[in-house]
Amino acid sequence: MKHTATALCALVIATLAPTAQAQSAHAAAPADKATAAPARAALPYPPNAEGAAAFIAAAEKDLFGYTVEASQVNWVNSTYITEDTDAMAARINAEGTEKSVAYALEAAKFAALPGLAPDVKRKLDILRNGIVLPAPTMPGAATELNEIATRLNSLYGKGKGTLNGKEINGSDIEAEMGNPERTPAELAEMWASWHDNVGAPMKDDYARMVGIANEGAKELGFADTGVMWRSGYDMSAADFTAMTERLWQETRPLYLALHTYVRKQLNEKHGDAVQPRTGPIRADLLGNMWAQEWGNIYPLVAPEGSGALGYDIGELLAKQNKGPVDMVKIGEGFYSSLGFEKLPETFWQRSQFTKPADREVVCHASAWNVDNVDDIRIKMCIKVNADDFVTIHHELGHNYYQRAYNEQPFLYLNGANDGFHEAIGDFVALSITPEYLVQIGLLDRSQVPSADKDIGLLLRQAMDKVAFLPFGLLVDKWRWGVFDGSIQPAEYNTAWVDLKREYQGIVPPVDRPADAFDPGAKYHIPGNTPYTRYFLARILQFQFYKAACDQAGWKGPLHRCSFYGNKEVGEKLNAMLEMGASKPWPEALAAFTGTREMSAKPMLEYFAPLIEWLDAQNEGETAGW
Ligand SMILES: [Zn+2]
Repeated sequence: MKHTATALCALVIATLAPTAQAQSAHAAAPADKATAAPARAALPYPPNAEGAAAFIAAAEKDLFGYTVEASQVNWVNSTYITEDTDAMAARINAEGTEKSVAYALEAAKFAALPGLAPDVKRKLDILRNGIVLPAPTMPGAATELNEIATRLNSLYGKGKGTLNGKEINGSDIEAEMGNPERTPAELAEMWASWHDNVGAPMKDDYARMVGIANEGAKELGFADTGVMWRSGYDMSAADFTAMTERLWQETRPLYLALHTYVRKQLNEKHGDAVQPRTGPIRADLLGNMWAQEWGNIYPLVAPEGSGALGYDIGELLAKQNKGPVDMVKIGEGFYSSLGFEKLPETFWQRSQFTKPADREVVCHASAWNVDNVDDIRIKMCIKVNADDFVTIHHELGHNYYQRAYNEQPFLYLNGANDGFHEAIGDFVALSITPEYLVQIGLLDRSQVPSADKDIGLLLRQAMDKVAFLPFGLLVDKWRWGVFDGSIQPAEYNTAWVDLKREYQGIVPPVDRPADAFDPGAKYHIPGNTPYTRYFLARILQFQFYKAACDQAGWKGPLHRCSFYGNKEVGEKLNAMLEMGASKPWPEALAAFTGTREMSAKPMLEYFAPLIEWLDAQNEGETAGW
């Protein structure tokens, strides 16, 4: 079973780890010493605008050097896992956590001063809100927070479910949820055992952690941790919430049509007793533990006659004897065709393209810029198949973004917001159309699927990209409520189940016990990784794609456009990329797309033929739940 989309989601964490924000992105748990130290120390800089500027300059210099060293250590650790490299990585990352906490606290003291230069103010804010889980300075709090976060993480890592009564680990159970051979009873068993075993034991720890982190957020000047998470988007937390809700409302009709169609197919396959024709869908029937992406059950819903595309990229590559490095060369070729400089020689020497035979490595795909300048690399265990072909384009998107903004000051070495970094490679990958494959000589023109196959292609895309939207939004909706207290510990699970039902139209396959903590069964909750970025990236990639196709003068249906070879698109894209995080994201968006607003309209245009087709299929069905 293929899990591209899931993998892309998970790899984001790894992707950003080695870059500028590594220390803050990973600062799940500050050490006690770290928070205590800056609280006692007097400010080494005068509390005025000049002092703030001097503080920022020193912090940028220190962090630049630190991240280079940390990236080197983490690279070695990820590509050569031993007890020693684990210990080295733990040490250098703990140092990074200490630094990020100390700098955030100092930045918070400067942030309210009058007369700050705009760049200084922006950089103070970046330092101040760069921690995911802030610890308060109260003695013992950071240690406790650290212990809880570590415990939650390891509970998840060690989590087991059962299949036919036998224990099964996390990655195997994830794959089995997408196995079309599994019966509804087996799926329900896996779903329930995973949620009961993994989630439930975390509940008390999670509640305690929320309390501590909120104290830390207050010390940094935020109302609660959820407000802090929403403060990185150049708008108020309330406006950001409203923007995400608007984007969801724009896409909801498309999701509803997909939901109705898929429910009908599930009903026809399983019968009324398993999946009724109306109401919500049973969570375990969608090919994914969290019902977040449904691509695994595409064969079940594929349109008759036009479901199969008629070619497979993996087979096309194999037929021409293309190996992993050739696949990366093809990816590079796409970016070169837009006018981007070729990848440096060091990229080819230092990247990990395939799984070494003689040692343990982290195979999760990621993209790095080790020296913050031009030492860009990818780390993958490439297999010659369609999924990895797409993933290569995705990872290279990170690399080209990293290199494009490498002349920015240290604190701006990042995406315009966290959704942008993920969206770049995905938007380029949208351009891997049959026509593009012909242009690069992989596909023979006679093999190009006829237009009547488009629905299958679009449906396959929608099963991952559209199905994901409500889930991408509700994970943090739940956490925002938990952090601001509107969801109390006694309501943790019912609120989660209610949000799943309200947004996704999904219900658990079995009754939930009173002590359930289903959110804990999703990695990003115990792992404390903010999730809204994935929602934003899904929307943004279509905005980028539409802008590129318009600039390329594309006139046909949007989903068939490829902007391969268009230098004008490359120039405009680069104008956005090279800004890094130096300006509010609407300015970066405008540099490429001409608009300052995030909009779901391009996504709707891309899927327009599918919407029409779904509406016809859904005639006579009761949409919604
Ligand atoms: Zn990524």
